[in-house]
Order: sequence, then C-alpha cells, then structure tokens
Amino acid sequence: MTEEYDCIIVGAGIGGLLTGAALSRGLGLKTLILEKTGVLGGRSGVIEKEGFLVDNGLHVIRYCKKSPTVTIFKKLLGKKEKVELINLGDAKFFSGGEWYDYPLSAATIETTTFFNEEEREQFKRILGEEIIGAKVDELFDKSVKDWIDEMEKKYEIKPGPARIFLEALSKLILVSYGNLDKLSMGELIAGIQLGLKAVKTSCYPAGGWRPLIENLAKKIESNGEIRKNTKVDKVIVEDKKVVGAQIGDKTIKSKIVVVDIPAQEIFNVLDEELFSKDFVEKCKSLIPTAGISIDYGLKEKISELNGMILSSDPFTMSNFTSNIDPTIAPEGKQLYTIFQPTPVDVVSDKEKSDEVVENIEKLLEEMFPGFSEKVQWRRAVKRRMVDGAVPFITQHRNKRPSVKSDEIEGLYFTGDTYNGPGTGGEIAHASAELCIKTIMKDLNLAIIK
Ligand SMILES: Cc1cc2nc3c(=O)[nH]c(=O)nc-3n(C[C@H](O)[C@H](O)[C@H](O)COP(=O)(O)OP(=O)(O)OC[C@H]3O[C@@H](n4cnc5c(N)ncnc54)[C@H](O)[C@@H]3O)c2cc1C
Repeated sequence: MTEEYDCIIVGAGIGGLLTGAALSRGLGLKTLILEKTGVLGGRSGVIEKEGFLVDNGLHVIRYCKKSPTVTIFKKLLGKKEKVELINLGDAKFFSGGEWYDYPLSAATIETTTFFNEEEREQFKRILGEEIIGAKVDELFDKSVKDWIDEMEKKYEIKPGPARIFLEALSKLILVSYGNLDKLSMGELIAGIQLGLKAVKTSCYPAGGWRPLIENLAKKIESNGEIRKNTKVDKVIVEDKKVVGAQIGDKTIKSKIVVVDIPAQEIFNVLDEELFSKDFVEKCKSLIPTAGISIDYGLKEKISELNGMILSSDPFTMSNFTSNIDPTIAPEGKQLYTIFQPTPVDVVSDKEKSDEVVENIEKLLEEMFPGFSEKVQWRRAVKRRMVDGAVPFITQHRNKRPSVKSDEIEGLYFTGDTYNGPGTGGEIAHASAELCIKTIMKDLNLAIIK
C-alpha cells in the first residue's frame, strides 16, 4: 500500500526541522521528514569530540528575543513552548595589536577607547541621523561601500577607527570577508536596527544546538516521523501539482512538499523543465558565503571572555563557546571556535586556504599568547557554503526565491537561500516562519496546541 502524509519535508536542516515541528505539533499535520544523512540539523548539526559538544563552526542566534527562532517557539509550537537562550557577554575587538571594547551596544559606544572623542561624536550622529530611523526598503539596492563613502564625506570622517569599525560591523552582521561594494546596505541597517531593538545582539541555545535539534525532532515525532539515511530522488509533480516524493522505487504520497535544500541544489530533486528560466537562473546563480572555521578543544581555561571576539586584520569572529555555556565542554577545559569568511576560490585552493589557517593561528598567538600549548585537539574545516546566500544587493531578501512556488501547487521552500531577513541561520529560521505562515494561510489552518 502506498504511504500517504499531509506533508513531506525534504531535508532535516534547521529550516526543515523548524518548519516540520510547527506543521506537525503546532498545526496537527501528519508530517514526514526525509533526511539523506544519518544526522539531523544539516549545517547546524553538532558532533561530539573527546567530551566536547562541537557545533558546525561558530553558531550563535542573532537578535536573541527578536529572533524568528523565539517567535516560532512562542507562537507556532504551542502556548507553553519556549527556547532557552543564553546571552553572550560584551564583544571585544582586537585591532592593531590592542584589545578594545567593541561598541555593539549604546553603553559601549560611550566608553570604548577605540574611538577618540571626535570620532565617538561622529559615530553617534551617524547612528542617530542615518541608521536608527533609516527606511530600510530604500537601501536594499545600495552598496555598503557607497554608503560608507557618503558618510565619510558628509560627516568629514578621517581615515582610521571609524571606517575600520564600520567595515568590521558590516563584515560581522553580513558575514563577509569584504565585498563592501556588493553587500546590501539595507540588510546591514536592518540588522543594526534589530540589534538595537533586541538590546542583546547574540545568544546561544542553552546546552548547545543538540538539545534544540532534539527538541524539534521530538515535536515532529509527536504527530509524524523522521527518516534518516533516506535520500529523496525526486519530488513528484503531476499537472503542475505536487503529489509526493520518490525514494528509489518507492513513492510516498503528499499534496504538500517543503524542500529544505539550498536553492542552488534543488534541481537534484525537482525537474528543471517545470520552472521558468528566470526561476532556474535565480536559484542556480545564488552566491553562498564561504569560509574557514577552526574549533579548538583546550586543555585548560585560558580566557574569561564570554562575548563575540572580533579581529580586524585578518577579519575573524570567534568565541569561547564554553564560557557562554560551560555544559558543552568537560570541566576545567575550554571550547574555542574562530571563523574567517573567505572567498570561495581561496577556500577551494589547498595552498591558499592552508595559508589562511596559518595566519589565523598566528593571530591566535597574538591575541592569546601561549594558545598553541593549550590545544588538546583542533578541527579546521574549509566550507564552500557557510551561509547559503551572501546578502548582496543582487540577492537580498526580496530578490531570493520565495518560500512558495508560484509555478507548482503544493510546493514550498524553507532554508537560508529563500526569502527572509539577515544572513545564514537567521534566514533559515525566518524563512521557516514565513513558510509555516504561508501554509497556514493556504490551508486555512490555525495553531491547535
Ligand atoms: C561553519 C558554519 C558556521 C555558521 N555559523 C552560523 C552562525 O553563527 N549563525 C547563524 O545564524 N548561522 C550560521 N551558519 C549558517 C547556518 O548553519 C545555516 O544557515 C543553516 O544551518 C542552514 O539551514 P538550512 O535548513 O537552510 O539548510 P541545511 O543545513 O543545508 O539543510 C539541508 C538538509 O537537506 C538534506 N538534503 C539535501 N538533499 C537531500 C535529499 N535529496 N534528500 C533528503 N535530504 C536532503 C541535507 O543533508 C541537509 O541536512 C553557519 C554555517 C556554517 C557551515
């Protein structure tokens, strides 16, 4: 007998899990998640190494209480549901061999020694006059470089800390190695505005990502099923309507299929011929963020820092994750992860990417003298796709593929290459929220729990 579900989700990345949990537990749809690998979470997955719980690189939830993750738990999973988040401490900035408070909050803008008094006043004016009340929609197609150049002229900013700070802020919020001439100023300002509203800009799920992923899996299984090691070969479409999924020679019926695969790869499971040329081109041409991430299991505690750590040259982001949540490392030890956004051609070239790793390790010795002697283990990962789509002016939130196909009935998308604000996980989570709400509207459903 052919199996039948209300809804099939292809892929158990964080987008698929959040969508699946809300459809299954929140809306009461009989839901099936099919995941080709043996682990849940996709790029947000976790491994265990010598007693440490290690995320896939640096993995924070941006904008804390204002993040879509919190909304999904609070509003779409049921009244009593919430996700427990731990706030990161104050951010630090390593620039020119010195440590500074990184001005991510109004309080640190007042006190950081990174700016002199003139620069502090200039920066506060820019924040007040150009950022807080800015109309984001008008800035999506403007590049960060053009905007910074304009500000430099308008506020007569001298080369130096203010520019270094603005550039580092752009790279941090938009997760980029540079490319300021391509990054969308609207996405950057939207991020700063949300950060100011959220007060706390970065959080970490209590216990790490594993409990969050397991929690979502449990919710899906309350009214559905997850099958690991099950690769979907094809989403079956008849007369422009979704009718199910094919796995080998087996067919599973469903009138709704949500695809949680990065848009660049969806034609592995969807017949390209079914879509307009524009849509195919839009999906295939999306440029992901690439980067190099190194995790270190440290034999002993070497730092008390518990916030985001940034460096200007090379630009890196890092944190001592176990200072944020001590439960993820064995007692007395420390987990540290550093990430450098890197052009994809460098990531793909062994010699060049080894050089990046070497430079990161030199930087670590400068930032934390004696670091290398404390290393118990290290894992360097070179990723061609970190975030699914860099927030460039050509692929900002309004230009990426929509969460609902307007060509095939019953076909939806979730994940970090579709509509949704921000970067990476934020888009994955926001697109899940959008996808869930779109399905609710299309099926005229309300939250039942
Ligand atoms: C090193 C690193 C650091 C990061 N740091 C952060 C951070 O600090 N903050 C943040 O917000 N984001 C971060 N991100 C980005 C974040 O991890 C991703 O945005 C998010 O996990 C993407 O989720 P997704 O559901 O869109 O896709 P994915 O995680 O790619 O999930 C897709 C899933 O589909 C499965 N699949 C593919 N094809 C098939 C098929 N045919 N059949 C069945 N299953 C299939 C895959 O195996 C995978 O599990 C980071 C990413 C990396 C790699």
